[in-house]
Amino acid sequence: MTRIVAIGEAMVELAPAGDAELYRAGFAGDTLNTAWYLRQLMPATDAIAYFTAIGKDDISARLLAFIRAAGLETGQIAQRDDSTVGLYMISLNNGERSFSYWRGQSAARRMLEDDTALRAALQGADLAYLSGITLAILPQDARGRLFDVLRDFRQAGGKVAFDPNLRPRLWPDPKTMTDTVMQAAGLSDIALPSYEDEAGWFHDTTPAATAQRYREAGAAVVVVKNGPKQVIAVTPNRSFAVKPSQVANVVDTTAAGDSFNAGFLASYLQHGDLETASIAGADLATAVIQQFGALVTLDQFTQHRISGRPL
Ligand code: AMP
Repeated sequence: MTRIVAIGEAMVELAPAGDAELYRAGFAGDTLNTAWYLRQLMPATDAIAYFTAIGKDDISARLLAFIRAAGLETGQIAQRDDSTVGLYMISLNNGERSFSYWRGQSAARRMLEDDTALRAALQGADLAYLSGITLAILPQDARGRLFDVLRDFRQAGGKVAFDPNLRPRLWPDPKTMTDTVMQAAGLSDIALPSYEDEAGWFHDTTPAATAQRYREAGAAVVVVKNGPKQVIAVTPNRSFAVKPSQVANVVDTTAAGDSFNAGFLASYLQHGDLETASIAGADLATAVIQQFGALVTLDQFTQHRISGRPL
């Protein structure tokens, strides 16, 4: 049995619901999106846990119920009296989406005030999954605690997968972002960067340069996503490139990278083949961007095709 723990922030999402002033509340967040897809792709006997902190108010209870209903383990999610969950709102302007965030006081920022709960969550786990957003929302001392926990987890045989998911708006300055991300890369076994973000902040001139930088930082497996262009995957023994299928009608690219990561990890953890896993990641992202919203429910045939999950 495989056990995966995704660590991060789940938020309330307010999305336009037709009328200009009408919004629908949902839940999403980069690491939650990946956990959601992993749950659909991994065999039912495997466990996928989500680790975060939330409040004790009604919306926090609804978020917790949502995460549970998705089949994710929630046993180590702390519920705090002093804060609630973050919120973001999607605005549509002539078909273009823009986002506003209210997350400054979110409980998730405090999920590592002490490390007891995370250590308990990772007990016996095979893979910890986190992103640059997980790091960005934490105060510096909490980031240090997270790195210590990950170091011990790897020492005990666990693997770490990391999507740098660069969001400069969340960081105090670009240097803190790039330094912290590369520190995390040094604690990662699998790095899943997106070339366009990386090129802007690390000045990589090619996706291969991005892969090389993460390999040199210590990640054994690096998969560089690049929108509709080819994905490159590099390990100590081999490298491989796959071109995502062309999508004529891209409806909504939200969660393209998050779903890619889930498709890749689900396949790689089960079959250990870089090529099959890269194709699985691209396949899932292709399906997701042809529908609205971050979280798309997959039918069992798609689950089977992408990750080999038993029908
Ligand atoms: P990104 O994070 O934008 O590089 O996208 C992650 C993954 O989503 C890519 O590696 C592709 O597999 C998929 N993807 C994103 N945009 C497109 C697109 N326009 N057409 C096909 N696949 C895409």
